[in-house]
Formats: sequence, C-alpha cells, structure tokens
Amino acid sequence: MEFKFCPQCGERLVPKLCGDDGNVPFCERCSRPFFPFSYPCVLCLCITEDGSEIALIKQSYVSEHYVCVAGYIKQGETPESAAVREVMEEIGLETVSCRYVKSYYYEKRDNLMLGYVCKVKKGRLVTSCEVDSAEWFPVKKGQELLRNSSIAQLLLKDYLGGME
Ligand SMILES: [Zn+2]
Repeated sequence: MEFKFCPQCGERLVPKLCGDDGNVPFCERCSRPFFPFSYPCVLCLCITEDGSEIALIKQSYVSEHYVCVAGYIKQGETPESAAVREVMEEIGLETVSCRYVKSYYYEKRDNLMLGYVCKVKKGRLVTSCEVDSAEWFPVKKGQELLRNSSIAQLLLKDYLGGME
C-alpha cells in the first residue's frame, strides 16, 4: 500500500529524500515519512499433533478451493498471537504449539503472508460465519486439494520439506 494522504492528519504527502530509500511520501505537517508497505497476514497450517491430518476450510468469498486458516494481524498483536486467535475464531480449535515456517508475498492482495504451523488437538471443527465449511484431511489428500502453487500449498510443502 502506498500512501498519498497522511493517515494521521489527511494532508497531501510530498516526496522527500530519505537516505537509501530514495523519495518517500512525507507529511510536512506531522513531519514524518509514510513508507509504502504490504499488509501483514498470518497463514496457519493446522495440523494434528501427530502430523497425520490437516484442517482445511472453504471460504467462497476467497476461493472455490480449499484454503488454510488465514487473517490479518491486528494492531499491537504479534504474528504468533494472531495465528492462535485466527485458528480459534475460524475453526474453534485450541493451538498447542505455533511455529514460524516461512514468509510469502501475495501480490494479488499486496499481502505479506507469514506462514505458521499450528499443532492442534484434533476435535470437532466449529466454523465462524466467515467460513463456509471446514474439514479434516490426511496430509497427502490435503496437499492435493490445495490449489496448485497456491501459498497454502507452498506452506505445506515447505513445512514437510523442513521435517526431512
Ligand atoms: Zn500528517
């Protein structure tokens, strides 16, 4: 996201040289630069503690394919607590452990996706109104259901690759 107006006072921003970054949108009233950035999100691979099954969801407003739990990181929140919160909100599961895997850039939505693996106790999936359905799948089946080259599929691949 690139700012054209100051998000604090609404003044039109002007380009200003900021060292190595070159010209950066700057608010002369607040006397501060507003660097362009991509919204940070968490992508959560929800897997049973024994690593045998993953929980995938369907969200018609996002994709017709199965996807992983994901969401924006709230102001003041760490990615880890966002991951735990999203897993609870979207599928109603408690995260036993949460570990960072890798980050991905999602150009279509200008999102910086931080990939986490969330070990969860297998239980009944209770979905939020944001989620159409959620289901458990054996890992291999899940891999096939995720859209080819999607970030969710990459996260699963990177997670499994790191286990070898
Ligand atoms: Zn300002």
